[in-house]
Amino acid sequence: MEFLEIDGSQGEGGGQVLRTSISLSACTGQAVKIINIRSGRKKPGLMRQHLCCVNSAAEVCKAKVKGASLGSKMLEFIPSNISAGNYHFSIGGAGSTCLVFQTVLPLFLLTKKPSTLTFTGGTHNPMAPSYDFLKNAFLPILAKIGLNYNISIDQYGFFPVGGGSWRIDISPPKSYKKFKIETRGDLLKIEAKCISSGIPGHVTQREKRALLTHSGWSKSSITTENVSAIGTGNIVSILAHYENTSEVVDSIGSVGVRAEKVALNALKNFEKYQSSKVPIGEYLADQLLLPLVVTEGGTYVTGKLSEHTKTNVDVIKQITNSKIKLEQSELNNQWMVCIG
Ligand code: AMP
Repeated sequence: MEFLEIDGSQGEGGGQVLRTSISLSACTGQAVKIINIRSGRKKPGLMRQHLCCVNSAAEVCKAKVKGASLGSKMLEFIPSNISAGNYHFSIGGAGSTCLVFQTVLPLFLLTKKPSTLTFTGGTHNPMAPSYDFLKNAFLPILAKIGLNYNISIDQYGFFPVGGGSWRIDISPPKSYKKFKIETRGDLLKIEAKCISSGIPGHVTQREKRALLTHSGWSKSSITTENVSAIGTGNIVSILAHYENTSEVVDSIGSVGVRAEKVALNALKNFEKYQSSKVPIGEYLADQLLLPLVVTEGGTYVTGKLSEHTKTNVDVIKQITNSKIKLEQSELNNQWMVCIG
């Protein structure tokens, strides 16, 4: 078996190098050996979320895997055929199920048959796309290229307990459309949610007040919500609808961080995106690469390129022969990403 060797320490040096490698290995049939896994992180090697990504992708493409254990810094992944169907992926902790979803999604995009996926674990994690981000920012773009889906959440999963559960039914189309977005258009509507589970009600009330005081948005655009979760948790999530796209920015509450700070952090992140004027925000820019590479590609305008985006492009080019161009525009700090 000829392995393509991928160095997990390259570029950003985190879990994304691993996730992209196994996802594209499954999609292309190319066996990969990943070394130095997450050596750019404080706790290198496979953690629960990464292990779940490996096992989930392996289950869907019946891969033979070596090195799939907690803490492992080396993994061999030999893929076989991808099968659509009903799958349940469980992290067994509070790791991000949304990252597991994004790892296996490209496989299902290629199957051309419907699948139902259910997940157990974290749904709203720091340093990862939240369930709300998937639902309201990431997936609507896949709908534009032709994917049909239904997504619903039963229970939120916050760090450190996890236990969240959600489900998505996916129906890939016969053929995909190219994706293109150059401008976002006018801001049409803001929906800000202050969400909590198992903590005193004044926390989300204070978050709402802080947003009202500092944003200038109407009272009706900011809501508070008590959600069902096994553990305690708090998140402020801002959904901004534009003419051509929508963006979600989150701020996750944690013990010792004042409610006002959590709310203002979300507002600061939103204002950063708003003033960048680009349609595709920093996080979507790296997350759209994989699904677009395995479908018909496309072009999008984003802001300053993150290390995640640059690293993801490099890893994708090592595994596929996709043509990805990153072109800086004359406008300050706007980049055009062209895939295919
Ligand atoms: P890694 O650090 O390599 O495990 O990758 C983290 C992934 O999470 C990247 O794809 C980021 O774009 C994504 N991510 C991190 N923070 C956020 C956020 N606040 N909203 C959406 N996605 C995020």
